[in-house]
Amino acid sequence: MERRTVLGRLNWQFGDVLATQVETARTKSITLALPNWMGHRPGQHVDVRLTAEDGYQAERSYSIGSPPEEQPRVTLTVERLDDGEVSPYLTDELRAAYEEVIYRDELEHLVRSSTLLEVVHTLTRVQPSGWTGYRRRIDTEMLREVAWLPDQHPLAFICGPTPFVETAAASLVTLRYEPGRIKTERFGPTGEA
Ligand SMILES: Cc1cc2nc3c(=O)[nH]c(=O)nc-3n(C[C@H](O)[C@H](O)[C@H](O)COP(=O)(O)OP(=O)(O)OC[C@H]3O[C@@H](n4cnc5c(N)ncnc54)[C@H](O)[C@@H]3O)c2cc1C
Repeated sequence: MERRTVLGRLNWQFGDVLATQVETARTKSITLALPNWMGHRPGQHVDVRLTAEDGYQAERSYSIGSPPEEQPRVTLTVERLDDGEVSPYLTDELRAAYEEVIYRDELEHLVRSSTLLEVVHTLTRVQPSGWTGYRRRIDTEMLREVAWLPDQHPLAFICGPTPFVETAAASLVTLRYEPGRIKTERFGPTGEA
């Protein structure tokens, strides 16, 4: 029988929630990215520590459901206990920050299959730890940094809620885009004059 000793101290590390998957009405799988993960063996578990904004902490153990080959990704499957403290948070509240990105998979696929397409995200509500992209609403400075240069006579399409469209279109005009080449579609209330 092989024996191994844990050498040194096991330290806590931050994990990013990459994805969540509903398994049944009461259980959800949570995939974490653990950049400093040291690997695991089938049958092992992790201790998960949650820290609230006021500093309160709770710890629970969860079996690792994913095979060692998937590291540094680790998947846990959590059953919701209605009167539990931690499991309802993990199954009902916890979200992957990219779950806020609409059509993410389709966009990533398009970027991979094209040398012309570039997608730039700005996450205005929540960002995963280590996020280095934009964190604010679209403004002139952001478009100056990411949009085509005006002397390339770009054709711009803007689609979204009215305030968003107006801000983006006005910013492009400020950047000397030709107004006639800025096409817009607005999501205003039905029946609005
Ligand atoms: C090695 C290991 C591996 C595990 N793997 C998994 C796994 O893969 N998936 C999984 O879902 N869970 C797993 N667990 C269980 C997990 O760690 C948690 O215990 C579980 O998620 C419940 O946590 P909770 O905070 O929601 O519930 P808790 O708040 O801890 O409550 C647990 C239960 O105790 C009851 N209780 C709490 N306080 C009292 C009280 N004062 N009087 C009477 N009853 C009380 C609650 O009503 C509830 O039913 C594992 C545990 C261990 C030790």
